[in-house]
Amino acid sequence: MRHVYLHIPFCRRRCSYCDFSIAVRKRIPAREYVTAVLGELDLVRAADPGAGDLETLYLGGGTPSLLPPDALKTLLTSLRDAFHVTTSRDDVEVTLEANPEDVTPDNARAWRESGVNRVSLGAQSFDDRVLKWMHRPHDAARIGHAVRALRGAGIDNISLDLIFGLPAELERDWERDLERALSLLPSHLSLYGLTVEERTPLARWVSRGATAAPNDDRYAEEYLLAHRRLAASGYEFYEVSNAARDGHRSRHNSAYWSGRAYVGLGPAAHSFDGRARRWNTAAWDAYRRALAAGRSPVDSEEVLTDEQRELERVYLSLRTDTGVSLSAHPTNRLTAWVSAGWATVAGGYVRLTPEGWLRLDALVGDLTALHDTV
Ligand code: SF4
Repeated sequence: MRHVYLHIPFCRRRCSYCDFSIAVRKRIPAREYVTAVLGELDLVRAADPGAGDLETLYLGGGTPSLLPPDALKTLLTSLRDAFHVTTSRDDVEVTLEANPEDVTPDNARAWRESGVNRVSLGAQSFDDRVLKWMHRPHDAARIGHAVRALRGAGIDNISLDLIFGLPAELERDWERDLERALSLLPSHLSLYGLTVEERTPLARWVSRGATAAPNDDRYAEEYLLAHRRLAASGYEFYEVSNAARDGHRSRHNSAYWSGRAYVGLGPAAHSFDGRARRWNTAAWDAYRRALAAGRSPVDSEEVLTDEQRELERVYLSLRTDTGVSLSAHPTNRLTAWVSAGWATVAGGYVRLTPEGWLRLDALVGDLTALHDTV
């Protein structure tokens, strides 16, 4: 088990589109959080004392950058000890998700000293009006300051998150946002299309007609524009939503997409051992109470059948530029995709094009439904 995810659920407020499992808090209960996670780590290690070296560690949320640097340091030190990190520290990819407003030169230095060597920055847009609409606490200028502070502290592996496919009435200039992002020379970009999730401020605005629902044509146009623009700047889309330059692919997320085992710690975190998936109770208070009582925070688990594992393998492979083996699937179907411009074939593998990735769910459904009848 060499890939560890730690969920840090705290946010200052909820962004307008977000339905993640978070705990909105003015004061971050850092000490209680560290105690609870270290308790869970003890349980995980007791259940599997032979777990191997750590290869990647991903601190996601929520807003991990809200944790005070000393709390983060305690967690990282304990995790590295627990997973026998014996190699030099940068052999382990340690990613921290951060919001731009938390990235001060002091915080960046402290993160680097604790072993963080990759930061995924929630930029989302470079348009102040749009950021306000999203309920983001930062403005566009803050994103550039954050990138410079990270580089000044020696963290060069920086990913920027951007959201596209926003409602037309915002008149968001997506091309301009891409240019602003590229001008900061990030090593990695993650691009997510806006979706309306239940029980979010956005869902309420849409249901009362205060804002238009995202439009599929705009989504497709902006997605394809991003592919063209990023390719022209030397970025490779190695997954449906992720592009990297100079080989700076996320090793942690690549492990998920290739079906590797991982351990999840923290409220709502998922773990996978290659056969079964388990997930922790999502609410912060319930998670904290379980660990304070010495109980496991695992809420439930599902054991995947061979069929489910195969479906998942096909889905994950098609999400990435690895693609699926031609020989394992009905070639007439795959050839039809190639003719439609949704896929290419090389070296015995079929890989989706950007147009194919726009139809990912439908194509996986097409392939797996055919499997049932072949
Ligand atoms: S900061 Fe991230 S996790 Fe927190 S509310 Fe905003 S989008 Fe959701």
